[in-house]
Amino acid sequence: MRHYRFAPLQELLRLFFPAICYGCGQPLEGDEQSLCVHCMSHLPLARNAAIVDNATELRLMGRVHFDAAASYMYFKQGLVSQRIVHAIKYRGDEALGLRMGLLMGRDLAQCGRFDSVDCLVPVPLHRSKLWQRGYNQSLLLCQGIAKTFPRPIVADALVRVIATDTQTDKDRIGRMDNIHKAFMVRNVSALQGRHVLLVDDVLTTGATLSECADVVLALPDTKVSIATLTLANG
Ligand SMILES: [Zn+2]
Repeated sequence: MRHYRFAPLQELLRLFFPAICYGCGQPLEGDEQSLCVHCMSHLPLARNAAIVDNATELRLMGRVHFDAAASYMYFKQGLVSQRIVHAIKYRGDEALGLRMGLLMGRDLAQCGRFDSVDCLVPVPLHRSKLWQRGYNQSLLLCQGIAKTFPRPIVADALVRVIATDTQTDKDRIGRMDNIHKAFMVRNVSALQGRHVLLVDDVLTTGATLSECADVVLALPDTKVSIATLTLANG
């Protein structure tokens, strides 16, 4: 029999409000956080950082002038990766965001293709969305990445000037129009002459990242690489 009298607060809370796994809905046990061991070991991994012309790069090719690009997982409706993104984005699961970023950073560091990156730049949210949500999920990922791929985070150099509508119901062309001129550079000196790693949670058509990369690449002597937590179906 377990002696809950001396259990830490977290264990006590779990007694009354058992945390469940985002992946399978089963109660979490022991040290498990957000995801159970089974779901954590069955993520739909892309892990393509080491591969030249990987699926992420093919998606962006012709649209973004990047040095290298990578995604950690595949994003599909109903898969655990969708629930992970949802938890990081809308449920305020900061620990999960940091953990996923840390895994992304480990791959970026190990493969050697991102070695010349100078700084990490999260794709910014419009201030209305930031106010609504309270945090930027891409910044959370950057904070995780920096633990295993140590680079300074430059979070305030880019600004999103247009609050775009949700893109889910728009076709590819519509998305491009919708995103046009959505970003601008607020702090030139923070980015000029740097190799910037743009970080986002989901790569779909690449329209958002393309807009973001364009404003960075308009500055002298800049290079752009890209890391996304997930790669969605095009
Ligand atoms: Zn699970």
